[in-house]
Formats: sequence, structure tokens, C-alpha cells
Amino acid sequence: MSTATLFCKLCFKEIRSVSLSRFLHNDIPLCEKCLASLEPKMMVQKIEGFELTSLYEYNEAVRSLLFQFKGCFDIELKDVFLAYQLPLLKARYHSCHLVCAPSYHEKDEERGFNHVHEMFSSLSFPFIDCLKKTSDFKQALHNKRGREEISKHIIYDYSGSIEGKNIVLVDDLWTTGATALCCAKLLKTHHPKSVRILVMGKTMPHTETEENMSQEK
Ligand SMILES: [Zn+2]
Repeated sequence: MSTATLFCKLCFKEIRSVSLSRFLHNDIPLCEKCLASLEPKMMVQKIEGFELTSLYEYNEAVRSLLFQFKGCFDIELKDVFLAYQLPLLKARYHSCHLVCAPSYHEKDEERGFNHVHEMFSSLSFPFIDCLKKTSDFKQALHNKRGREEISKHIIYDYSGSIEGKNIVLVDDLWTTGATALCCAKLLKTHHPKSVRILVMGKTMPHTETEENMSQEK
């Protein structure tokens, strides 16, 4: 083990080497306080026929962690996100393939990594890169029109097959759910055995509007 002083990536305070979280999360570049402030809270819901699992509520600590990771290209933070849930998720999604909700390719190039791929990479499950975003379209409308619009910008592009596979669609944030649901529905048309959704953070409770309900099945 290195004796160099470690600093927390969020609050920049020195990380004390003798603490319980150091033993449990040896490689995590966060202090005990910041790690605790993430407040993991796993929630499972059924939305439009899909099982949605979220790992954190989108609180201030999760927000700054995501910003640091995604906005400041800090790849060292990639294993922080699943620090608490890793063993559980490995069991829960055993034998699954992961599909990342796509981000626009040029954004990934600018960043040097695909942030969704990296944050779920510690699961060590195979990834299938079959969804692509064809423009830098940002979904802003929370209504049916917004959802229809986003489906025009996400395509299935894969030379292999996902038929008969258990697929987990992974994404960083669930806000309106439009992107994830669009991806999940698109995946379903290619006959996987199952499609489930796993997101890191969730911003607000999903309200079942009439629109959503009528879209079921
Ligand atoms: Zn800290």
C-alpha cells in the first residue's frame, strides 16, 4: 500500500488512512464524509412494463460527483459510483449484458471516455454497443412530443444479435425517463430475453400520467 497522502476528490481534504471506509473501499478517492453524503438508496420500480432500478437519489453530493466525473473528465472517480452496491449488483444481474444509453459520439471523444460505460465497468459484465445517438439532441420536453422527438435520434446499430440475451440498459441519470424508455423499447424489438433498466441517480418520482399509461404494452 502506498504511503502517499490521499486527498478527497470532492472536498479536497486529506483522506485519513485509518478508517473503516478505507478498509472497505480501498481504491475510492473520497473521504469518509463525502462517501457517506452520497446516501445510497436503491429503489426498484416498474415503469411502462420495465423494471427500473436506481441507486441514488440525485442529491447535491451525487450531483457534484457526476459533474466532477463527467464535466471535468476525472476518470479516477469511475469506481466510486458502485462502491456500495457492487456485490449486490453482481448477483442481481448475473449473466446479463450491459447496454449503455448512448451519448453523442463527439461528446465521448472530447471527454476521452464514455462516462456511462466507465461508471458501470466495475461490474465486469460484457457490454454490447448497439445503440447510437445520431445528434446532440437534448430531450427537454416532458411530454409525449419530447419522447417522440428523442426516438428519432436514437438508433439500433449492431452487427451481432441480442436475441435471447438478458439485457440491462444502464444510464447515469433518470430525469424524465424518456431516453431510457426509448432505448429499452428499441432494444425489446430485437427479441432479447429480458430488458431491465439500471440508473445511477434519479431526480424525481415518476408520475404515471395518462399518456404514459396509454403507452403501455
Ligand atoms: Zn471529501
